[in-house]
Amino acid sequence: MEILRRQFLSHVGQTSDSPLMIEVARAEGIYFYAPDGKRYVDLISGVSVSNVGHGNREVVEAVCAQAREYMHVMVYGEMIERPQVKYAMAIAGLLPEPLESVYFVNSGAEAVEGALKLAKRHTRRTEIVSFRNAYHGSTHGAMSVMGGEEFVGAYRPLLPDTRKLRYNCFEDLAQITERTACVLVEPVQGESGVNPPVPGFLEALRERCSAVGALLIFDEIQTGFGRSGEMFALLKYGVTPDILCLAKALGGGMPLGAFVSSGEIMAGLQSDPPLGHITTFGGHPVCCAAGLAALEYIREHDLARLAEPKGRLFEELLKDHPAVREIRRSGLLLAVELGSSERLFRAMGLLREAGYLSDWFLFCDTAFRISPPLTITEEQVRACCAEIRAEVLDKL
Ligand code: PLP
Repeated sequence: MEILRRQFLSHVGQTSDSPLMIEVARAEGIYFYAPDGKRYVDLISGVSVSNVGHGNREVVEAVCAQAREYMHVMVYGEMIERPQVKYAMAIAGLLPEPLESVYFVNSGAEAVEGALKLAKRHTRRTEIVSFRNAYHGSTHGAMSVMGGEEFVGAYRPLLPDTRKLRYNCFEDLAQITERTACVLVEPVQGESGVNPPVPGFLEALRERCSAVGALLIFDEIQTGFGRSGEMFALLKYGVTPDILCLAKALGGGMPLGAFVSSGEIMAGLQSDPPLGHITTFGGHPVCCAAGLAALEYIREHDLARLAEPKGRLFEELLKDHPAVREIRRSGLLLAVELGSSERLFRAMGLLREAGYLSDWFLFCDTAFRISPPLTITEEQVRACCAEIRAEVLDKL
């Protein structure tokens, strides 16, 4: 065990000096198990990935079946691969018109890159607008549109001609103009510490984009596939973007991303110049088969709709504790605000000791995350809350 820890630190590239360092022996449902048998409740879901629970039987069977048929055969977009076609159709069937054309990639950041390029190609404009405290990924383009200068500064120069507005600020929308190629927004900001839109904000944003001819891009990489209490937050708010970015839960636990648009806009990648976005592994058939099985599981078990009452139950069972300042929530994505980073760091230690895996948010280190697999039961929610109150909040 000690040797493995040392090997992990020496040979697996690290991005922080304080990784969680919990060895995973296996994972099932809402739980992780360490080699010594210690059980952890997963309150992160790999950051909104494991919506259908760990080791989901339908997903595992789909992975095995597709791996036996074929895995990678050719770079993306050349061959007709049935799992891609079936999954693209299923996604398009859930989305409002004209979102019908799905371009599969590998990750959230790659989906964002593809979406930004598509918007520039379509509008022939260059300015990209995004929002403060947004997170869209860690590649150069995605970093250019994220918040938090402390994370970004060392990597400049990044993309030129970007502009950041205040999320939920109607006044700032006037800065979107005829120069703007696109506006990229998380309909519910995740890494800012869970901030849903104020009433009318997404509608006003849509209106402004349409008025000046800028494309509206929704990043539903974290909110997609039921997390917000609807299959997609865009359905919850009734606002249709021109391009939609998906990843995380899209692959049912396998790596997969996508950007979705109308056939007309997507056609821009085909010509003048052709090959507008190239990806080798994007839309890997095993990942698409896994994603489709996960999507079917979400639908069959009504997990998207049930995310709302389960999230509400978490909120109700925790919000009156004196250590909790506020709970911000969208469906089954919650930020439990403790008011200071010192209290949060103490809470993180207590959570871990009590067998709960949580974390804080990239741009909010005063709140901890509750985003368990959507398969969590009401009984499990009640048990978690009783334990979190007694073993964590009472001791702060
Ligand atoms: N967009 C949002 C809203 C995210 O939360 C994330 C990842 O946390 C990303 C994009 C980037 O996704 P990936 O890590 O797959 O590149």
